[in-house]
Formats: sequence, structure tokens, C-alpha cells
Amino acid sequence: MPLAIADTYTYRVPDEMLRPEIGMRVLVPLARKQLIGIVASVETNTEIEAGKIRDVLLLPDIMPVVQASQLRLWRWIADYYMCSIGEVMAAALPAKLHDVHYSPSEGCRRVRLSEYTSSPIAPNPLDEQQLRAMQQIQSEWHERDVVLLHGVTSSGKTEVYVHLIQEQLIAGYSVLYLVPEIALTTQLTDRLQAVFGNQLVVYHSRVTDAQRVEIYRQLLVTPEPRLILGARSAIFLPTDKVQLIIVDEEHEPSYKQQDPAPRYHARSTAIMLAYQLGAKVLLGTATPSVETYHNALNGKYGLVRMPQRYKNLLLPRITMIDLQRQYHRREMYGHFSDPLVERIREELTKGKQVILFQNRRGYAAYLQCTECGHVPHCPDCDVPMTYHRMPDSLVCHYCGHTQLPFTVCPQCGATMRVHGFGTERLEDEVEQYFPEARVDRLDLDSTRTQRAYQNIINRFANHEIDILIGTQMVTKGLHFNDVSLVAVLNADGLLNQPDFRSYERTFQMLEQVAGRAGRTGQQGEMILQTFDTKHTIYEHVLAHDYEGLFAAQIAEREKFNYPPFVRLITLTLRHRDETRVETAGQILQQRLGAIFGSRCSALLTPGISRVKNLFARQLQLRIETTANIAYAKSLLLREMHLLEGNPAAKGVVITPDVDPM
Ligand code: ADP
Ligand code: ZN
Repeated sequence: MPLAIADTYTYRVPDEMLRPEIGMRVLVPLARKQLIGIVASVETNTEIEAGKIRDVLLLPDIMPVVQASQLRLWRWIADYYMCSIGEVMAAALPAKLHDVHYSPSEGCRRVRLSEYTSSPIAPNPLDEQQLRAMQQIQSEWHERDVVLLHGVTSSGKTEVYVHLIQEQLIAGYSVLYLVPEIALTTQLTDRLQAVFGNQLVVYHSRVTDAQRVEIYRQLLVTPEPRLILGARSAIFLPTDKVQLIIVDEEHEPSYKQQDPAPRYHARSTAIMLAYQLGAKVLLGTATPSVETYHNALNGKYGLVRMPQRYKNLLLPRITMIDLQRQYHRREMYGHFSDPLVERIREELTKGKQVILFQNRRGYAAYLQCTECGHVPHCPDCDVPMTYHRMPDSLVCHYCGHTQLPFTVCPQCGATMRVHGFGTERLEDEVEQYFPEARVDRLDLDSTRTQRAYQNIINRFANHEIDILIGTQMVTKGLHFNDVSLVAVLNADGLLNQPDFRSYERTFQMLEQVAGRAGRTGQQGEMILQTFDTKHTIYEHVLAHDYEGLFAAQIAEREKFNYPPFVRLITLTLRHRDETRVETAGQILQQRLGAIFGSRCSALLTPGISRVKNLFARQLQLRIETTANIAYAKSLLLREMHLLEGNPAAKGVVITPDVDPM
């Protein structure tokens, strides 16, 4: 199984070489290269003559670098998510292990894993609600492997995790603690470090290659129990000592890897890993995914609730503002309604802090010609480019293509106007309407480095910033004492996505934004500006009514045949030539239609039909949950291979996505 190559291959172990163990690295010849691979199985077959298959060249190590439990998980991911085990391996192993000169038995002595040296402090004692939750979780685990902890924002779920983790570590077991985006967890890391000191290992995309392989190596060779905190890819670390997996904010879409393969969902994978290890899983969130809550209600998962905020604080009061009326009466300051401006001023006068939420970065959504209506699109993608001020540019948020903005229309020469607004424009407006306030912005553009992110968070926490503007980054589990008001500038933008999850996502996002307000002291407030005050979702949002949202959503899902009532698999076909991808798609659609009947959709053109110069078509399969999904996948794979051999589909790339998000 050579690194970065998609498959398993057979090699002979020369007589003079030691017999390798499963999981060891080997240097093997492949095509005209020499590559590092991992031993997936060892068989004794004396009948194969020397020369028939090629020889292993070298065993660089004296120990396996992949545990049996990891290989088992890789195989499951490859089967379930319809990719090759080589693709899983490429995602799973740190890059350094490709290097034959790197020796895992020695490691890199210069790399320090942990900057922490302070002596740990004891966890906080739990309050009554937390104690009850902890006991319930433990008793649920006697009957089920997976428990959902449904606790409202600021109910103190983290402290419950801390106690559960401590139990495991004391018993000599490791814990895997998954979070959606580790870069956004400075506060959590600090908290866990205070309690667990050097037992804490933090693994994420921003650690260096050298640190990454060193973390991997230490988990492989050292016997001490560890708390491994990481984003979804931490699931690939050597985890055979893990007996508890926590998936915090389990509803977060970023647990699903989109590109490249393996397109795995870390929550589902965690549940499988736990099953393979005989470990327990705790899913935690204030806003469960519809799938998870369905499983909790039907008894597949245990369900434990924490309905109160810590110290019995009230959930924020939510006020809606009708933008239609505001614009009609011209009671707007830029994108701020009169009443919102007034409330922000009041809070600032009281010395409180404010968070403004807008889920779009950049200055404006797009530029448009005032005469001919032309909207500049990315040359390589079928999307309008986003206008950014700093630096002055048009940026494609799909491929990153950047160019100078047009001051006049490239088609007719008339003037261009900006449409829509992002965080950057809000920042301008805040400076204009609240000149006395100290403002900063938290989004992908302002936090290119971990340090920049941390710096903004620290300054806001120290009250050196009065108003923080942000994208969904500001919703992620942050805790600030003095935030009394949060505002959503345009709640509708979230709703108008062509996706069966858009109501669920909108509710989750709004509830999480609201959750940042009033976390200490007095009740906080969230102000929602919307053009559509009558939309049914706002009833649930205003009342913090997750149950109501769930009931409405699960009914829709059942009626229209969506997960969790069926499994979805999408096949995306891509090619530079639109006619070819269309033809290939039609051929595949006919074949699959003959096999799967109405389970296979018609050939679809995705909303964004071209990205990076590749045209796309899609087929969507809905497979009953009672059907033999493995068999269905094998049929699909067969048809994909057949199509790849068809000259009419030459060069068309087909990408399967199982449980797409
Ligand atoms: P959640 O994760 O449920 O949103 P947190 O775990 O962040 O909530 O808790 C909210 C706040 O309450 C945090 O500031 C936390 O430090 C505090 N808190 C929670 N439980 C305790 C406890 N047992 N003792 C002291 N402080 C606590
Ligand atoms: Zn583009």
C-alpha cells in the first residue's frame, strides 16, 4: 500500500529480510519509482516464484507505524465512503512518514509538543444540573454506546466533559475530543490545559509537519493516557487506548470533509471507531442535527438534557426587526435599522460589548453595472466575484481567483454599483455610525494566522474592542463576559439556500449566535433584522424552541424522502467540455435508472455548474435505510468503472459522495 497511491499491491519479502509485521512501513518499487508503503497483510505463499512479483526493497523501521485499529478504520472508511484505501491513508498519515529517512523510533528531538509546564488545577465542582447529567450519561452508557448531551448554550457542557475525561485518564485510558475547527478553540484549549497539563495533545491543521508527525509518533510509542483534542482529522491518530470519544458541537457541517476524498463525516466515523475500540461516544450540542436527534428519540442513542444555563441565567431575549418596514420608512443607517442603532448605543453607554453577525466576508456580494446589469463573474467558475476593499479587488470565493475591480462596466462603460454587504462593509458602516466605538472584525480575511485570530479574541475578551463584527466564526463556542447584545444584520441570507438542510442550519446558526449573549450576569438580547418576519422558522427561533423546529423538519424530511429516512449518495461528473459531461451523465443516468429505478434522480445541473473551469453534472441516489447499502454501492462502483471505459465519457471524472452535506 504505497503512500499516495490508491490501492493495495502484492510484494515478495526476500528470504534474507525479516518478516514484516502488519502496519510496518516498507520501501517498494512501483512503476519507475521507489515508494514508502504500509503492510496491510502478510501471507505465506511459497508457490509464487521469485521474479513473478517484485521484492520489498527495505524495511526502514523496527516497529509498525499504523496500529491494527487504524487499519480497520481505514478499511471501513474506504468501503463506506466509496474511496480507495490509499486515499484514506494519504489523509491519515503525516507527510513525514512518506520519507524513508525519517525514523519513527527516534523522532525529532527538537520538536516540543507541549508548551505547557504549569501544574494542573482541579476541575470545577459540578452544579446540580451538571452532576445529574453526568450520572445520566454514565448510566445510559451501560445500555448504549452513543449518548447525546443536549444542553442549551452556556449550560456548562464543557465542565461535564472535563469530569468525564478525568475519569478516563485516571483509569489509564485516552480520550479523543473532537471539535469542529480547532483554530477557533483558544478558550477551550486554555481551559483543558489548566486541568490536564501535559496530558493534553492538540492536533490541527495549523501545527507544522514536524509537530504533526511527532504527535503521531508519541501517541504510537508512549504508554501514557492522553487527551487528544483535535479537528476531524484527529480521528486518524493512533487511538488504540481511547475509551471515550467526545464530539462537541456535533451538528457542525465542518465535520464532513468535502474535498478531496475520503469524504468522511467525522461524527459517523467516530461512532464506528468507538464501536471497533469498544469505546463510548458523547455527542454534545445545544442544537442537535436532525439525524442525531432522531436517533436519540428513537432510542438508538441515549439522550441527556441540560435545559438550564449555568447559574440559571436566562437565554437571551430575541427581538425581530422588519426590514421591509424600515426601508419603506427610510429609517435605516446603511444596513442598520433605527432601533438597532439605538440599542447598540445604549449598550455601549453602559460599557457593554456587542457582536454583529453577517455570514458573508468581503465588502459587497458583487458589483453590477447600473446600465446594462452586467455582473462580473469569475473567469473559471460560474459565480459572481465578491468585492473586497482591503485590498481593492474582486475575489472568487470558490477558486480564489483575484483581480482588480472594474470601475466602469467592461461591457458598456457605465458605472458599477456594489450590491449586498459583507463584514468588511459593515466595519466601514460601524466606523461611520459609531465613531467612538472600538471595532474589529473576525472572519477568514482578518485571521489568516492563528496569532491574528488569538489576538482579536484576547482583545475582545479584555474589552479592548467594543463591537466585534464577524462571520460564523463568532458563533463557535466563544465565551465573553460582557457581551449583552448580538445582532444578525440579515437573517434571510441564511434561509435562501437551495438545500434541504437550510432551515435546520439557519436555526442552528441563530441559536448559536444568540448563545454568545448574556453569558454572565443579566439576560442578554439578540436582534434579528429580516425582510420576512412571517417566516415560520422565526417562531421557533424566537422561542428557542428546538423541539418545535425538529418536529417540523422531521415531518418534512419524511414527506419528501430525505435523510434520516433514506441515505443519499451523489455522483458528481466533471469535465472541461460541457457536452461531454452532459453525454456521460445521460449514459450513467440511463444505466442507473435501469438498476435503481426511481431511486436515481434525473441528471441534474448543480446550482454552480462550473468551478475551476470544470463543468459539473450530478446524479442523486436515495437508498432506503432498510436496503443493503453495501450491495447498492458495489453496483454503483461497477457502473462508474464501466462508464470510465466508455469512449463517449473519456476523461470525465466521477466523484461519489456518501451522506453528502
Ligand atoms: P456550554 O459549553 O454548555 O455552552 P460552558 O461549558 O462554556 O457552556 O459554560 C458556560 C460558562 O459557565 C463558562 O464560563 C464556564 O466556565 C462556567 N461554568 C460552567 N460550569 C461551571 C462550574 N461547574 N463551575 C464554575 N464555572 C462553570
Ligand atoms: Zn473561481
